[in-house]
Amino acid sequence: MHQQVISSMDFDGFGIGGSFAKEDMSSAVRWVNEILPEEKPRHLLGIGEPEDLFMGIENGVDLFDCVLPTRLGRNGTIYTKTGKIIITNKKFRDDFSPIEKDCECYSCKNYTRSYIAHLFHGKEMLAGTLASIHNLYFIVNLVKKIRQSILDDNFFEFKKEFLENYMKNK
Ligand SMILES: [Zn+2]
Repeated sequence: MHQQVISSMDFDGFGIGGSFAKEDMSSAVRWVNEILPEEKPRHLLGIGEPEDLFMGIENGVDLFDCVLPTRLGRNGTIYTKTGKIIITNKKFRDDFSPIEKDCECYSCKNYTRSYIAHLFHGKEMLAGTLASIHNLYFIVNLVKKIRQSILDDNFFEFKKEFLENYMKNK
C-alpha cells in the first residue's frame, strides 16, 4: 500500500492532506497515523478549526497550518472561548470590553470590541489586522494548552471542557 511505501522512506516528517469529507476525517487521519513512524512529525495540511485540532491531535497529528485565523479575522469573525463572534454585530457597537477579558494578545490589551467594530465599519485595514492578531494568538494558545494537557495526562478532560464552552452557542 502507498502509505507503507511512503512511511518506509527516510523523510524528516510527513504531510497528511487531501480532501476529506468532514465525517471521514478522523478515521482517515487515525488510519494514516497508525502506519506512519511514531518518531517523526505528522503535519495535517490546512486544518485549523479548534474542534478539528482536537480531532487531529487525538489521532496522532503533531503539526498544523491553516489560513482560517487570518481569513476569518479579515472578515470580522473572531474566536472566543464561547465560540466565534461576528464583531460587526450591532450588539458590540457599545461594548467597551476587550474581545476576551483574560486574553494576553496585543489586540485585547489595547483595544475594545466597540473600537474594533468601528474600524470594520470604516473599512480600516487595522480592523482585520487586530482581529487576525487575536485569532492567531487564540489558536496558538489553544494548542499550547492542549500540549500541556497531554503532559498533565488530562487531554480528554480539557477537550471536553473546552468544546463544551466553545460549542455552546452553535
Ligand atoms: Zn486577544
